[in-house]
Amino acid sequence: MSSSVSTRVAIVGAGPAGLILSQLLADAGIDSVIVDSRSREDIEATIRAGILEQGTVDLLRRIDPDTRVDTVGNRHDGIELRFGDEGHRIDFPALVGRSVWLYPQHEVLKDLLALRLRAGQDLRFGVSVAGVDSSDPKHPVVVATDARGESLSVTADFVVGADGSRSVVRAAVTDARSTGHFREYPYGWFGILCEAPPSSPELIYSNSEAGFALISQRSPEVQRMYFQCDPGADPAAPSDAEIWDTLQARVPGTTLIDGPIIQRDVLRFRSFVARDLRRGRVALVGDAAHTVPPTGAKGMNLAIADVVLLSDALRALLVDQNEGPIDGYEERALDRIWKAQHFSWWMTNLLHVAPDATEFDRRRQLGELRTVAESEAGRTLLAEAYTGWPLS
Ligand SMILES: Cc1cc2nc3c(=O)[nH]c(=O)nc-3n(C[C@H](O)[C@H](O)[C@H](O)COP(=O)(O)OP(=O)(O)OC[C@H]3O[C@@H](n4cnc5c(N)ncnc54)[C@H](O)[C@@H]3O)c2cc1C
Repeated sequence: MSSSVSTRVAIVGAGPAGLILSQLLADAGIDSVIVDSRSREDIEATIRAGILEQGTVDLLRRIDPDTRVDTVGNRHDGIELRFGDEGHRIDFPALVGRSVWLYPQHEVLKDLLALRLRAGQDLRFGVSVAGVDSSDPKHPVVVATDARGESLSVTADFVVGADGSRSVVRAAVTDARSTGHFREYPYGWFGILCEAPPSSPELIYSNSEAGFALISQRSPEVQRMYFQCDPGADPAAPSDAEIWDTLQARVPGTTLIDGPIIQRDVLRFRSFVARDLRRGRVALVGDAAHTVPPTGAKGMNLAIADVVLLSDALRALLVDQNEGPIDGYEERALDRIWKAQHFSWWMTNLLHVAPDATEFDRRRQLGELRTVAESEAGRTLLAEAYTGWPLS
């Protein structure tokens, strides 16, 4: 059995990039079909990003009258950089007049799924895409298997790969799925979710002799904390007590409030930018186009910045028959992508202790941390990037 459907834009992936793109296209009067291999329940339950830039929040408020970013989410006006047993607050509004919001990605996705389904979006869960057939360059076809195991093809005027870091659409744009610029880091994050109140009102980014730790949050009842680890570490290996000892040793000066650990994982660090972001009528956005280490909290925000650009370009192409903006999409998107790549790489190297660090490396790193924290220019640079450059 097989079925086929036609639409103007086929979007692979119902993550933040795919869902926001469908909304922006609908606002421009452009129909789309979204397919995702996961179920709605799975998408709404996966805990990932937590920090939204000012521009992301402004966009969510504009497109979704029911967004809960201001009710369930919390505005954060700063972070603490901790090193050498001292804390240094980076005061975002005082430095750049902007803030960030702590609003977990799965809550953003609940809002967006409700918004799109209410509007009648053709959104198909449990559909696994195998690839894109571009043999008719004006009408690429998404080749997939639906939730019942039957073949499904989606023919469109344009296909967007919003299918995350293991993108299958990427092969239609770059020939090989891994083709691009790539860096791997000699450390990862051991992450936990625990049932406890916040240990600190703002996030703490702590560089200590023993390595890096991030004391983050998810809600008043559940906290997210990370410590630097070997990328090959086994998340099941340490006991809860060992995890708390490791975290506590890395944030001297703050007494962590512990509680039952309800999830633990190891996150490897990678930087990646696909060699091409568009070929003909197929384009990549979000993690399909690039990944960043999580230290700068840029991944989801960058995905959303891509779709703001792409939706404008698709409106010009499909409504005004103007090919200029889509021809310029890659170059414009890469401007921000490489700034975010740099910031994520810089924050990672600034805060983590490399396994082979010498005494010179440690002292130089502390000198760099002091250069940033003790100078208004340094704090401003960090605040500007962390709260996000304005969306185009
Ligand atoms: C632990 C963790 C913490 C993070 N913290 C932050 C943070 O603090 N701030 C931040 O900005 N970012 C953070 N990120 C990154 C952020 O989660 C991603 O950058 C973001 O999800 C990218 O969105 P996306 O829409 O491009 O892709 P995704 O959210 O990955 O969505 C892709 C969708 O495509 C679907 N899909 C994949 N393959 C197929 C296929 N073959 N067929 C059909 N569907 C498919 C998937 O099921 C998925 O729903 C974090 C990530 C992790 C893992």
